[in-house]
Amino acid sequence: FLAKKDYKDIHVSRHLLPFEDHKFLKAADARVMVRGAGVYLWDEHGNKFLDGLSGLWCTALGYGRPELIAAAAAQMETLSYCSQYFNTTNPAIAELSAKLFDLLPSPFSRVLYTNSGSEANDLMIKLVRRFWQLAGKPGKRILIARHNGYHGATIASASLGGMKLMHELSGGMIDDVHHIDEPYRFGLRDAQDETAFGVHAARELEAKILELGADRVGAFVAEPFQGAGGVIFPPASYWPEIQRICTRYDVLLCADEVVGGFGRTGSWFAHEYFGFAPDMMTIAKGLTSGYVPMGGLVLTQRIADTLADCGGTFAHGLTYQGHPLAAAVALATLRLLDDGGIVDMVENDTGPYLQRCLREVLGGHVLVAEIHGAGAVAALQLAYGRHKDQRFSNENMVGLYCMRKALEHGLILRTTAARLIVAPALVATRAEIDELVGKLRLTLDDAARALKM
Ligand code: PLP
Repeated sequence: FLAKKDYKDIHVSRHLLPFEDHKFLKAADARVMVRGAGVYLWDEHGNKFLDGLSGLWCTALGYGRPELIAAAAAQMETLSYCSQYFNTTNPAIAELSAKLFDLLPSPFSRVLYTNSGSEANDLMIKLVRRFWQLAGKPGKRILIARHNGYHGATIASASLGGMKLMHELSGGMIDDVHHIDEPYRFGLRDAQDETAFGVHAARELEAKILELGADRVGAFVAEPFQGAGGVIFPPASYWPEIQRICTRYDVLLCADEVVGGFGRTGSWFAHEYFGFAPDMMTIAKGLTSGYVPMGGLVLTQRIADTLADCGGTFAHGLTYQGHPLAAAVALATLRLLDDGGIVDMVENDTGPYLQRCLREVLGGHVLVAEIHGAGAVAALQLAYGRHKDQRFSNENMVGLYCMRKALEHGLILRTTAARLIVAPALVATRAEIDELVGKLRLTLDDAARALKM
């Protein structure tokens, strides 16, 4: 977790963590998880953990769901593989696509399957550029994304992501990708500030398009809310302004719904929650509830028509795309989320309950400055000072400290800088949400004590 050089001087702003806690931060042995059921995991020593992050934002239906296991087993018995190379397909993928388009807003009309979110975003980059070639504007090959965004770990998707370290570790970026700032400012106090900031943040896109030239910019790519970047929920004014700017300059609006899709915010897709309409979107994770790998790129009619009408070919094939096993599990997942009423439950019951409990129980905590989120995803921004307006200078330490302490309390959570992130399974009950919030409170109390606050 921590390189030795980072470990030497661990301090959280002017609040020093006691020496014992330095040692505690350094301990990072691998933990062997041997079993999962519902929202819980057990390690090899029999310790039980409430999984507050649904694996990596993916196990929407929790662990060991019998319907998904049965769907996987039945599919493996019937047809365990079918390539799409010889113009062949399989019933599972056809049924999955039909169900998907039932759930999606109408402009979407085509889906291309991949095995992961990273691959789906790679495919998006290829397709944006191919689209503009076929549309007679081959110059529009630049993609604009955002600092602190995350779109995957392949070289192309990491380039689209806005994390510098990922660029360096990839040995550089692909060409013609630019970034603007993320739509977050610490300490916005009222609705007026938020609205003004949202518009201001969106106008950075306009400035960037004008700087680069609209005839060179093909797409803006972003997560509706940044997941790995810290569950950054933009102000309500942000996305409508982005949509206006993309329309004005004929720039494709591409949403990465890998984390936000399939009910996380209580809406089926996060772009619906924020009220905008993308031209393309990528999906993965919740699509199969994380049980088997699968991703996809969904296109609107306009993109699909241009590809078809121009008679253009688009060569892209993966051995495992549209795998029947993944399709069968995805179909069973969507049926449970939809017909089983799980997304409805997140929208109308457990989602608002989680958000209310977090604010009621933790909103006044000495370390908690802001709470962001909706449905089954939230972030607590930690800060200190009499008005909780001071940000931790060595931010990762306090987050990491909380992550480790949470494990001692039997809770798995994620941190990004000084933000604690929770995204429990969509099936989490009110009682399990109470347990999660209670363990979070114990964790924050530990951190406050260690920081002598
Ligand atoms: N996009 C977003 C928003 C993600 O959070 C992730 C992974 O966490 C990805 C894409 C990459 O997906 P995968 O890990 O399936 O390649």
